[in-house]
Amino acid sequence: MTTPRLRSRSVRKKFVKGRKFITKQKKPSKTICGLCGAVLQGVPVRGRYEMSKLSKIKRRPSRIFGGVLCASCTQRLLIEKTRFKKGVLKKEDIPVSHLKFLKI
Ligand SMILES: [Zn+2]
Repeated sequence: MTTPRLRSRSVRKKFVKGRKFITKQKKPSKTICGLCGAVLQGVPVRGRYEMSKLSKIKRRPSRIFGGVLCASCTQRLLIEKTRFKKGVLKKEDIPVSHLKFLKI
């Protein structure tokens, strides 16, 4: 059997002449929304090295929660935040998963 570090499915093995082999990392996964899990638009699917070569505006949308939450979740959060500030909503009415983004 192969060595334990090569048993992972995330590592692809490519055998070359003789006994040498090249390991290749799996394709990077798409960025998903922190609340609903939808695939984020405007965020390129690249590795860490290629991402560092891009300019900051090409890495994620330049709005609030860009690259973290999808547009509809951001809109919902901002509505909740303003309603909380106006006193319409109470802290108990806001879902617990939303609180870490609102910083209330
Ligand atoms: Zn979402």
